[in-house]
Parts: sequence; structure tokens; C-alpha cells
Amino acid sequence: EHQKYIRNFSIVAHIDHGKSTLADRILEMTDTVSEREMKDQLLDNMDLERERGITIKLNAVELKYHADDGNDYEFHLIDTPGHVDFSYEVSRSLAACEGAILVVDAAQGVEAQTLANVYLALDDDLEIVPVINKIDLPSADPERVQEEIENVIGIDASDAVMASAKKGIGIKELLEQIVAKVPAPAGDVEAPLKALVFDSVYDDYRGVVLSVRLAEGTVQPGDKIRLMNSGSEYEVTEVGVNSPNPVKRDYLMSGDVGYITASIKDIGQTRVGDTITNAKNPADKPLPGYREMNPMVYAGLYPTDNARFEDLRESLEKLKLNDAALEFEPEVSQALGFGFRCGFLGLLHMDVVQERLEREFNLDLITTAPSVTYEVEKSDGTQAEVENPSEMPDSSEIKTISEPFVKATIMVPNDYVGAVMELCQRRRGIFETMDYLDDYRVNVIYHMPLSEIIFDFFDKLKSSTRGYASLDYDLEDYRPSDLVKVDILMNSDKVDALSFITHRQFADSRSRDIVTKLKGIIPRQNFEIPIQAAVGSKIIARTNIKAYRKDVTSKIHTGDPDRRAKLLDKQKRGKKRMKAVGKVEIPQAAFMAVLQTD
Ligand code: GDP
Ligand code: MG
Repeated sequence: EHQKYIRNFSIVAHIDHGKSTLADRILEMTDTVSEREMKDQLLDNMDLERERGITIKLNAVELKYHADDGNDYEFHLIDTPGHVDFSYEVSRSLAACEGAILVVDAAQGVEAQTLANVYLALDDDLEIVPVINKIDLPSADPERVQEEIENVIGIDASDAVMASAKKGIGIKELLEQIVAKVPAPAGDVEAPLKALVFDSVYDDYRGVVLSVRLAEGTVQPGDKIRLMNSGSEYEVTEVGVNSPNPVKRDYLMSGDVGYITASIKDIGQTRVGDTITNAKNPADKPLPGYREMNPMVYAGLYPTDNARFEDLRESLEKLKLNDAALEFEPEVSQALGFGFRCGFLGLLHMDVVQERLEREFNLDLITTAPSVTYEVEKSDGTQAEVENPSEMPDSSEIKTISEPFVKATIMVPNDYVGAVMELCQRRRGIFETMDYLDDYRVNVIYHMPLSEIIFDFFDKLKSSTRGYASLDYDLEDYRPSDLVKVDILMNSDKVDALSFITHRQFADSRSRDIVTKLKGIIPRQNFEIPIQAAVGSKIIARTNIKAYRKDVTSKIHTGDPDRRAKLLDKQKRGKKRMKAVGKVEIPQAAFMAVLQTD
């Protein structure tokens, strides 16, 4: 019985607790990759992940393990991201597994994302295998962390694996615990095919590559398959597993985690969460799939070159295959032309989408400042949802504006509780509770406007707690607030893409901040540019960008030709990320000026 020797598991943890490093050690120990191929955080195979040192995408690999009981096991390991913006990736990987390795840093202990991720795993009834990592650190306190796991999470940690992913300690014991504790997949091999699509990516040659977990049945090249939700049918061209490079297989069977290609070119037909079945012998109903994700923030994405609007559309469609949480629809801005209003799970997600579009699809983009969604009750009794500040109705037409509130969980050493509370209070937070996790760490809960949390709150939280605080948040409800729209006028023209919504009490100070910032960001031109901030027709802040006196380019003519070429090149590259609005050239940074408050 093949299935008896399969183990499917994910690794979950708070960011930086060592998931990817642990995955490296597991790959090494099982000889999945040769020494020559081995590199740090091997599963973070996107350039962006390697540069930033974070995992963005889930990643599934198959490995073989010869256990102490003398049997050969087939492991499917799914590495997952730890950042709050990517918990959607985590929940999808978990649905493909029977177990989860919970990694907790022996010096840091349980953090906000540890809890969030472990609850996702418990929701899916997964077997949890706790690992206390980084025991090599001088500040490690494994016994305390063991107690914390038991007290805060409420799972047995008495036989938690004591590990150092860095030094390769505890890896063998972990592999043995996976064999012993994680259940083998159940599921009938003889039943009609049911495979859950948990990820997908577009490949120019092979079409859509579907990452699947087979719940029942088998699949092989030549089979006619049907995507149960979309109804479309294809003939399978290839099946295989990632190990970690793709390896063709003759077939996949229930319990397996692998990939399927079927020359799928019409991207719109495939959705993560769909169930694949056999077209000739179909299953009667699909697997549960995933809950829809609602974007938390919206921003406009515009090509710097308007002619590339259609390229941007196609790229967004392809990227969405690999990033199911991304949403987009076309919009027009007076200032920026044709683009898309995109929905993201958070600012890191937004940043990653922009970077992936630029790198993987070779586009130059301008992103406008992100905004949350507002619910507007108009005086005429109708309701409106506003995802773009420039579309906020005139204040005379508005009865109330409601904004999204989140429940924020902040874990912090008690020395810093005062600083955290002050910050939350300043961001319109409403205190709920404070609980001691152990003798010196506290869990603080606040209700906060999402708009105050998504921008630079996390950075502020980190800097006011010397990096010790961790944060998680969940959307709660919409609450009415005294909000106003502030317009920015440049050279007396309203720049719609710079409008923002803020609480009335912050309108003056934020407007002053922003016009000052814009003054620093927008390059001088050969005429004076007045910058103004206005609520309705009332100007609440203003400044001027003076015209430049000397012709700066004349300077380039002096000096050596090499330097001159470099300077010109630099100017050209700088230009790319600029957008001419009326007569004024506005650089990308200007659209983000509203993000940094205080
Ligand atoms: P992830 O965000 O959970 O995937 O964490 P990474 O695997 O990227 O590790 C985060 C950082 O912790 C990296 O700098 C690792 O080198 C380091 N790290 C991981 N495991 C250990 C360990 O056992 N001991 C020590 N000292 N550092 C570790
Ligand atoms: Mg990682």
C-alpha cells in the first residue's frame, strides 16, 4: 500500500523563526538536492524572495526518507510565508496536508503570526509537530518557549523537537516524528479523480501548470480532465512532482502532491481552489475549496507608457494565476490615464505585485497611494462603496462615511507596553484587553481603523519596541468616522491620484506634511509650481516649488565623457518612473508621500 508511506506536511511559523532554513536542512538530510546545488533558503526560488530574505509563495517539494523502521517514505513538504499579507498562501498549503511543523524561535517565543498560523492549521484538523528552533543562540530559552507553546497555544509540547536549523541539530529527530505523528493520507485510489488545485503558474511553453493535491483517484497523461467549477475540459499532457525541480511521473494517485499540465492557454478558466476530476468518470461533487479573500487595500497601477495598457492587462491576468488574492479592474485617472484599480491583502502584497509585474513582465509602473474601502451613506438614502479617494462624493451629498476596523493583536515584552499603547492611542485605537503570556510578555488587543494600521504602523511599532513587538490583525466591521477627503492641487490643477481620505482631526497636520514632502520630491522645473491641499474649496495647506535658475544640464558638458554618459543614463532611468501631469513631471515617490504620516 503506497499511501501508507506518504506524509504531507507544511512548515508554519512567525516570520524569521527559521522555516526556510529548516526546509534546507530537510532537503539536505534526505539527499533531495546535491551539495553542489544546495544554497541557503533553496525553496525561496523567486529572485525577489532571495533579495528580501522572505518567503512570498508557498512551495511544494517531494523528498524520500529512509526511516529508522526500515521503510522508505515519500514526504511532500510545503514551505509557506510567515508575513500577515500572505496568510492566504498558508491556508491553501494547509488544505493539501495532514500535518504542520510548527517552528518557534527559542529566543523569541510565540509571536502573533505563530498563533495566527497555528490556528489555521488547527482549523484544518492538522497534526501539529512543534519544533523549537535556534537553540544554538546564547539567548535561547527552550524550556520557557516550551511552556509558552503549551500555555498560549494549548498544545502538548513536552516532546517538541529541540533544533538548530542553522547548525543541523535535531533534524533527524524531526523526520522521525513526522513519520510517527503525521497521519498518512486517506482517500480511495479506485474512486473517481478529485484533485484540489492549490496553486498555478503560467508557462509560455506548457501553458498553465497546476499544483495539485489528489484527494481521490489517479491521473495520468492522456486522461481527459474537467475543472469542476469552470466546466472546461482538457487532455493531460504531463504529470509530475517537484523534487525540487520538476520530475515527470507516469501517474499521480490519491495522497500525492504534484503538478499537472494540459496545454491550458485560456487563463480565465483556471482558478485556485477548483477541483479537477476525470471527464469520463467524474466525481459527483467538488472538494470544499477555499474561502474567497477580500482585499484590504486598493491602489491604482498605471503603465508609465500609456501604450502598454493592454500589456499590463495581460500581465495582471497571468500574475493572478500565481497570486489568487490579487484583484483588478480597469480605471481611468485624469492625471495618469488608463490603468487598473487593484485590490491587495496589504502593503507588502502590493509592493510584491508591483515588483513582480516589473521584473517578470518587463513593465514600468506608477502605483498610486493605497486606500482602504469606505462605505458611504448618502443623504439621498443610497449607499456607495468607495475604493478610490478621488471618487468620494461631495461632502454635501454625504450623510456618513464608515471605515473598516480591525482587531489588532500585539505581543510585546512588558517593558514596551506603554510605548505600544501610546502608539495605538495616537492612531485612534480603542483598547480592549491586556493579558500576560508569561512573566514578562504581554498580549495587547486594540480595535483600530485599518487605514491607520496598513500604512507605516508596523514600522512604528517595531521602532518603538526595539523590534520586539509582533502584530496580527483581522477585519472586524465598518464603523462611522468623521472623515474628510483632501485634494492636492498642483499648479492649480487637481491631481486625482493624490487625493486621500483622513480623519478630520488629522486633516491639517497631514496636509502640511504632505505638501512639504511633495516639495522635496518633485524636481524643480523652469517655472514656479504652487502645491495646495484642499478640503472642498477650502485650502488648508500650501507651498511653492521654486523654478530652477541655472540650466543643470549645462553642468554635464564639463567633465569626462564617461561620467557624462552615466549621468544621462541615470536621468533617463529616473524619467521612466515619472508621469507628466499637466506641465509637471511627478515621480513615483510623490504618489507614496501620503503613506508616511507623523
Ligand atoms: P523564515 O522567515 O521562517 O523562513 O526564516 P529563515 O529560514 O529565512 O531564517 C531567518 C533567519 O534566521 C536567517 O538569518 C537564518 O539564517 C536564521 N536562522 C534560521 N535558523 C537558525 C538557527 O537554528 N540558529 C540561528 N542562530 N539562526 C537561524
Ligand atoms: Mg522563509
